[in-house]
Amino acid sequence: MNSLVSRRDIALVGSSSATAPGSLWADHQKIHPKTVSGQYRSLKWAILVALMAAYYILPWLRWDRGMGAPDQAVLVDFATERFYFFFIELWPQQIYYLTGALILAALALFLATTLFGRVWCGFACPQTLWTDLFQWVERRIEGDRGERIRLDAAPWSARKLGRRVAKHSAWLAISLTTGGAWVLYFYDAPTFFQDVMSLQVPQTTMFFIALFSGTTYLLGGIAREQFCLYACPWPRFQASLQDEDSLVVTFQAWRGEGRRRLDKRQSWSERKAAGGGDCIDCGVCHQVCPTGIDIRQGIQMGCISCGLCVDGCNSVMSRIGRPGNLIAFDTERNQTAQAAGQPASRFRLWRPRTVAYGALIAATAALIVIGLLFQPHLEVSVQRDRAPMFVTLANGDIRNGYTIKISNMTRQIRKYTLAVDGLPEATLAVAGQDGGSRTVVDLSAAPDTVTSYRVLVQAPRLTLRGAATPLDFHLAATRGGETAVYDSVFMGPEG
Ligand code: SF4
Ligand code: SF4
Repeated sequence: MNSLVSRRDIALVGSSSATAPGSLWADHQKIHPKTVSGQYRSLKWAILVALMAAYYILPWLRWDRGMGAPDQAVLVDFATERFYFFFIELWPQQIYYLTGALILAALALFLATTLFGRVWCGFACPQTLWTDLFQWVERRIEGDRGERIRLDAAPWSARKLGRRVAKHSAWLAISLTTGGAWVLYFYDAPTFFQDVMSLQVPQTTMFFIALFSGTTYLLGGIAREQFCLYACPWPRFQASLQDEDSLVVTFQAWRGEGRRRLDKRQSWSERKAAGGGDCIDCGVCHQVCPTGIDIRQGIQMGCISCGLCVDGCNSVMSRIGRPGNLIAFDTERNQTAQAAGQPASRFRLWRPRTVAYGALIAATAALIVIGLLFQPHLEVSVQRDRAPMFVTLANGDIRNGYTIKISNMTRQIRKYTLAVDGLPEATLAVAGQDGGSRTVVDLSAAPDTVTSYRVLVQAPRLTLRGAATPLDFHLAATRGGETAVYDSVFMGPEG
């Protein structure tokens, strides 16, 4: 792989001519990306519209879960400690599904990077999407690159002030919409708007709206590419995921060099004979780049693989009548082959690492799907009393107290039978109730809740196997046959 850090990147981290010698800080170089059109720009717009539409619309979708349950399709409900995603409903103890989803997302990111470089950064990362949107607004209000550069350099005037106020107001409106939409994932969306209208939004909600709106404004409007260049950890290790068969945005140096201005009096064969390449050194690729780099200097850490320089250069090539893709998504293997005058090397989809990532993705997805398909609707947990650890009764029997927590994950009241295994002569009784028998029947649990019972287990001392005898609690639904088991111990005196 070529050097992943360009001369500009090195300058950005401390050797800029505008930076004091020995300083660890680089001066901010404001970037004014030029408008560009082409296939990658169109693709970026399509992805932006689709992802933003999903972000804003999802909290408004309804999903009927029956009486008493929220009908918002996607909701993190802190009040009931549930996560709802359409037909999926997760309890706090099922957080491992979230871990599985994060592992799946990370593996998908690794696979995409191995195949296509930093396409996540260039096409789907929220930082890129919102920066794109903010820059679109900026262009609408302040004009394209040249106009913006002139406006920046101009002294303050009513016109400049008006444009700045309009731009920042629009940015703030987008930020507020973004922050407001974010809290809808934690709040019933229609209720939220009723609360807004009646000025009854809780202070915590207001705080998070302000936090997410402020973050959007700062990252999308002010920090923009600076976040990608300096704050995001992803560019630092994405190189280790790529190999010589990964598609990355590259300048076809073998065809483009020596770059020089176009001399219209010269034919292309004369230009070639004089050592000139297809690159006419117009600078468009650099001007359209949202991170402000010149891809002709080689693969760089600042490149987010957005493909805009490909579009920019293709429009130039088309104007001057040369073949497109002087800058293209290409592999290092093909670049090396072309530079050596060998036949083009085909893109290799199936490689050991792509197969490995694909297999891991399939295995993780299968585990999640199987887990969801066979998700239990009953869980039991048992907490043994710590003080006292046990009580010796007048007849010499030993008694332990336990708190049994029954998670009824259905929408109906259910009844259960509780039994223990490990002490053949043990009897059970719910605290405060008469009797003691081998099982406790008709323990009822309300729908979609955790119901607790305090249960006393009593056993003859001679049946104990030491100070801690293993004891399993078996809970069985009286209808449906679902069961749950919890391993605990029965404590008694030493010896
Ligand atoms: S060099 Fe090209 S692909 Fe890379 S960030 Fe700049 S415009 Fe996008
Ligand atoms: S846009 Fe194309 S022709 Fe113009 S400088 Fe960049 S690589 Fe050269």
